Amino acid sequence: MQELDFNPAFPPETVHLLSDPESGLEGVIVLHSTRLGPAAGGCRAWRYADQASMAHDALRLAEGMAYKNAMADLPLGGGKSVINLPRGEFDRRKLFEAFGRAVERLRGDYVTAEDVGTSVEDMETVRLQTRHVAGLSAVEGKPGGDPSPWTALGVFVSMQRAVRYKFGGDLAGLKVAVQGLGHVGSALCELLHEAGARLVVAEPREGVAAEVACKYGAEIAHSNSILDAQCDVFAPCALGAVLDRESVPRLKARLVCGAANNVLASPEDGDALAERGVLYAPDYVVNAGGIINVCAEYLGWTTVEVEARVRGSGDRLADVLRYADDAGLPTHRAADALARERLAQPARKEAAAA
Ligand code: NAD
Repeated sequence: MQELDFNPAFPPETVHLLSDPESGLEGVIVLHSTRLGPAAGGCRAWRYADQASMAHDALRLAEGMAYKNAMADLPLGGGKSVINLPRGEFDRRKLFEAFGRAVERLRGDYVTAEDVGTSVEDMETVRLQTRHVAGLSAVEGKPGGDPSPWTALGVFVSMQRAVRYKFGGDLAGLKVAVQGLGHVGSALCELLHEAGARLVVAEPREGVAAEVACKYGAEIAHSNSILDAQCDVFAPCALGAVLDRESVPRLKARLVCGAANNVLASPEDGDALAERGVLYAPDYVVNAGGIINVCAEYLGWTTVEVEARVRGSGDRLADVLRYADDAGLPTHRAADALARERLAQPARKEAAAA
């Protein structure tokens, strides 16, 4: 294994390489931080070119989960697992059983769930080996199941707060450009429409775009031109890295607030947004509804508790905006700094013993 390329300013606690020749499992589990609780973060299954790129992805994602969970005020640390899918044919069930045994060996220091390339069925297989897993089949009346409505609600209340801060009013009459009408984007459009916002939307699946346009009176923009749309707010709900050196200067919106992960291609693109006077609501602060739902499923919280915590997204964003103002930082850097401060506090176990 080549040297691991983690952030030297904030290194991971432990990195566990997984190898099980019988099932073909090759992967890595990164426990970035367990100071605030067990390291939680989904399991990504992908075909990586080599071990180094697999480990790089896991390290980057685990650090992101530590920040996200800390900022969501959850009793969870941050971690991530990545499986390098075998080339050719393999037995998926055996693979995820082996992965489940690896999770179990960590005795609750890591909690897994779905991510890109893994499914509810995979997590049910993992559950046969360990109880440290969420993202299982939905149970009526309990947290769990599709997290998207919670994510949409968290983005919506955060947008309300950011609009008040930036424009001094509410969403009524403002124009919001929503990129992507998948699980989160569609639910967000409904909430925005109810709040009196005007919508312009982009979605490659034409039938879906037409349905939303019809229901909520939205204008339809081409996927390539939504960034140029005349609007007050841009809500990225499709892909990551949509704001880069090329797209930032095109943006007409004065506020960016959406569900997509890793909206900024690089931190410098966040600096460029701030220099142009565009307020960026950091992605992992506003899109934590999904992980709140996962945490509730794992810890046995009620749906009422989930809703209260998701609605708290607006207050948590306000903390970041205040911190950014006080420290003179762009919001994305303020969020990272605030998360690192929280992660540097005494561990909850130690704090309880003190
Ligand atoms: P999804 O796959 O259901 O929806 C994404 C939508 O974007 C699809 O309808 C797709 O057709 C569309 N799309 C793809 N390329 C596009 C383009 N160039 N322009 C416009 N639309 C495009 O995903 P989702 O669950 O709605 O999640 C949306 C984003 O939010 C993702 O980045 C995801 O990682 C992030 N996120 C989701 C959750 C959740 O609870 N689902 C939680 C946190 C973060």
